[in-house]
Amino acid sequence: MEPDRATIWPYERGEPGRFYYSRYAHPAGAAAEERLGALEGGDALLYSSGMGATTAIVLGLAAPGTTIALAEGAYYGTSVLMRDLARWGVELVEYDQTGPPPPADVVWVEWPANPVLTAPSWEHVRAHGGLVVCDATICTPVYGRALDQGADIVLHSGTKYLCGHHDALIGATVTRDPDTTARLLEVRGRAGLQSAPDAAAALLRGLDTLEERMRRTTATAGELARRLAEHPAVEHVRYPGFSGVISFDVADPRSVETRTKLIVNATSLGGETSTIESRHRWEGDRIPAGLLRLSVGQEEVEELWADLEQALATA
Ligand code: PLP
Repeated sequence: MEPDRATIWPYERGEPGRFYYSRYAHPAGAAAEERLGALEGGDALLYSSGMGATTAIVLGLAAPGTTIALAEGAYYGTSVLMRDLARWGVELVEYDQTGPPPPADVVWVEWPANPVLTAPSWEHVRAHGGLVVCDATICTPVYGRALDQGADIVLHSGTKYLCGHHDALIGATVTRDPDTTARLLEVRGRAGLQSAPDAAAALLRGLDTLEERMRRTTATAGELARRLAEHPAVEHVRYPGFSGVISFDVADPRSVETRTKLIVNATSLGGETSTIESRHRWEGDRIPAGLLRLSVGQEEVEELWADLEQALATA
């Protein structure tokens, strides 16, 4: 169904109604927020991208002097943005999220971390006392509700599993505290971080099949992770046991990523098409030099394995 792409709607009897200017709210966005909020158990807001959601949180809730404890090995772009914000007096410390967070105003975990695939220690997170943000992009509400675990804000790059088809850029937050939601809404509108109607429509479509896609990708990824662990060219396999991202180390990751045929050598994750890339090109020594991140899509497991086996043959 085509979304309403209007940027304005007429006032009602001289007053703005629910929709009046699309930077604040639009019908496709409102419908997708309702659906995602129900899945996560809170109030959802959509943004231009996952990084748009991150920007709204930091802009709206941090101030000069705020310290953010970010999970080590979490999405590279998050740490890059936070480092940039040192110019505005925001301090970043990275920590091993499998243990206790250091003293900080904000604890920012990733469930699981992309691409090292560690999970946060919720017990330690709950005991910390700071504002807790959980990037649940890879977990998705199918495998866990971070708000129930103790997060104050759940963040998604909806670009990944929630939309699921590599064709829409969108981000989301979900919160239970009305003041936090109101503040994020205010910042989103003021800073122009709103989602596009077409992306919100893609999110609605993606949510229709989210559970089925996640179950299938998990079954396939579990089997591939098991086989990769037994392959002589593979040094180390990380797989959290759910969702579709596997990371594994090989001696020459570039030769493997350029040899796959069915699996696309591209960035991003969470789409119906499997993707693989060496993360070293982006992240440098932050991660092992041989690390390949594989995002398992909806293809047949045997076809994916045949592709991996031939790509690994001369690795
Ligand atoms: N969080 C995670 C875990 C990601 O993997 C990404 C993107 O790769 C983002 C956030 C940023 O999302 P977006 O690309 O939609 O801005």
